[in-house]
Amino acid sequence: MTTSMMAKFRVSATKPLQLSAIATDDDLGWDKSSQKGELEKVVGEMAFEQHRLMAEAKQSLLIVLQGRDASGKDGLVRHVMTGMNPAGVRVTSFKVPAGIEKQHDYLWRCHDSCPARGEVGVWNRSHYEDILVPRVKNLVGEEVWKKRYRHIRDFEQMLVDEGTRVLKFYLHVSHDVQRQRLQKRIDNPERSWKHDPSDLSDREIWPKYEAAYEDVLRETSRPHAPWYVIPADVKWVRDLAVAKIILKTLQEMDPKVPVPSKDLKKIIVPE
Ligand code: ADP
Repeated sequence: MTTSMMAKFRVSATKPLQLSAIATDDDLGWDKSSQKGELEKVVGEMAFEQHRLMAEAKQSLLIVLQGRDASGKDGLVRHVMTGMNPAGVRVTSFKVPAGIEKQHDYLWRCHDSCPARGEVGVWNRSHYEDILVPRVKNLVGEEVWKKRYRHIRDFEQMLVDEGTRVLKFYLHVSHDVQRQRLQKRIDNPERSWKHDPSDLSDREIWPKYEAAYEDVLRETSRPHAPWYVIPADVKWVRDLAVAKIILKTLQEMDPKVPVPSKDLKKIIVPE
C-alpha cells in the first residue's frame, strides 16, 4: 500500500508536472474512523527504527518540507516527529538569510544543518527557497537561480553518497484552504502572532509560485532524492501519508543495533 502511494505521489524527472491537476483533497481512499489510531501506530514504529538508527550511528535521514504558507509544515513536524527521541532529531526552520548567512553561498547554512550520522534532520523550508524566492520576486537574474537546480542535485547526490537518505515533501494545499487557514490564524489571538504580511502578498502571486514549484520539483526529483507531492487540505491525511513514507524509508535503511564485542552472558553487574 505504502509502495503504491509512494509511486503515485513521486514526482517524475521526465514527465511534465501540473500541480493544478493533482488533487489537494485526495483522501487516498482512507476512511477517518477506520484510520483512527493509525498515525500513533506508525509514529511508534518510526520511533523504533529511529532508536536503531541512533544506535547504529552510520546513516542519516534528511526530510525536506516545502509548501505554501499554511500548508502545514509546522503541524506536520508536531504531529509526525512527536514519537522520536528528540536527542536524535534536528529540526531547522530556514528564514530569510541574514547576517553571516548572507556572506556565504546559499548552501553553506544548509550543509551546516545536515543530520549527523544516526540523526534525522527535518528542514522546515530549505535550500529550495533559494530558487523559488529569487525567481518569483526577481531578486537575481535567471542565469543565477537556474544554475541552482544543478547545484542542488549534485549537493543531494553527495549527501546520499556519504550515507544520508534524502526525502522531500511538497505539501499541496488549495488556494481556498490556504485562505481559510490564514484567516483562522489572524482571528485567533493565540496564533495571530504568526501572521506575516508577506503571506498575503505571496498569495497574490500564487500562479508565479505554482510555476516555480512545478519546475523545481521536476528538475530536482531524482531517484536518489525524490519529491513527493502530498495532498495537504486534510490534515490527518497529510500527516499519515508523510509518516508512512518516512517509516517505509527507515525500514528500507534497515539500521542495525551494534552487536556487543564481548560475550555479555558472562558479565554480572556487581552488587
Ligand atoms: P514559515 O512561513 O515557514 O512558518 P516564517 O514566517 O518565519 O516561517 O517565514 C520564513 C520566510 O523566510 C518565508 O517567507 C520564506 O520564503 C523565507 N525564506 C526562507 N529561506 C529563504 C531564502 N533562502 N531566501 C529568501 N527567503 C527565504
